[in-house]
Amino acid sequence: CGIFAYLSYSSPKERSFVIETLLNGLSRLEYRGYDSAGMAIDGNANNETRIYKQVGKVAALRKLVGEDEKDMGHVYQSQFGMAHTRWATHGEPSSNNSHPHRSDDNNTFTVIHNGIVTNYKEIKTVLENKGYSFKTDTDTEVVVKLIKYVYDSQRGAKLAFPDLVKAVCRELEGASAFIFKSTHYPNEVVVFRRGSPLMVGIKTDKKLTADFVDVEYFNEAGVTENNSDVPIKRIQNQLFSTSHSDNKGVEYIFSSDSSAIIEHTRKVLFLEENDIAHISQNGDLRIHRLTREEGMSSIRSIKTL
Ligand code: GLU
Repeated sequence: CGIFAYLSYSSPKERSFVIETLLNGLSRLEYRGYDSAGMAIDGNANNETRIYKQVGKVAALRKLVGEDEKDMGHVYQSQFGMAHTRWATHGEPSSNNSHPHRSDDNNTFTVIHNGIVTNYKEIKTVLENKGYSFKTDTDTEVVVKLIKYVYDSQRGAKLAFPDLVKAVCRELEGASAFIFKSTHYPNEVVVFRRGSPLMVGIKTDKKLTADFVDVEYFNEAGVTENNSDVPIKRIQNQLFSTSHSDNKGVEYIFSSDSSAIIEHTRKVLFLEENDIAHISQNGDLRIHRLTREEGMSSIRSIKTL
């Protein structure tokens, strides 16, 4: 029901700061209603992704995280975390069914999701036939297992993270927004939206040339503006990019609702239908689009991987 994620490119923050940013973001989304909440936070001694989930209010999640992180908060740093408030559509409200969902015990892929994957049963059957088992009753777990399956099926080749997400999202039906993170692509984040809102806030004090600003795509609290100092470049065919020579210090905030972003930055990029936004390893933001043709794939293609 609500998505909030935070990435600090190149400058690690105190872990407790990232956690507080996530909890605060979730509390801005509370008015939308939800039955449970959760978060994933990257970075600690083993550089692992840690997941917390709790039924009930954000306050209950805060308590859970606080107890667990007590001895950790000021020791470790983090650059990324993602958080979710859930309005259960598939699977009862429970800690187990709450987001983030993960592909395996190592959290190789983690996903948060708003919306519904209407064809999840069909995909689940395909994956079960390939030997996958499921630990939750959600439609979302099917997506995080599917991305692992597509990744593992590459046999040596390695798709770029946005292309991998494309290969997965073309199989999905229904209205959804997702955030994808993977230990295979450290420091990268990919998000996708179709039929469910998702936006990216860009916090930077860089002054960059106006040539690159696509005014249609930059809004200040919903109002189009043309003096943004972050470049969004229309390259071709619905592909946009910020290509800073130096992205040091840039922070990205992803949310399903601008009310959770505007306290961080008023530069908000509203993603459009079928947009895939990618933060690359060097901190650039690129917007790709799953085209109609690419989106025409049917489940048959994953069956034959
Ligand atoms: N369909 C997903 C679930 O039931 C996401 C629901 C939501 O948007 O919160 O877990």
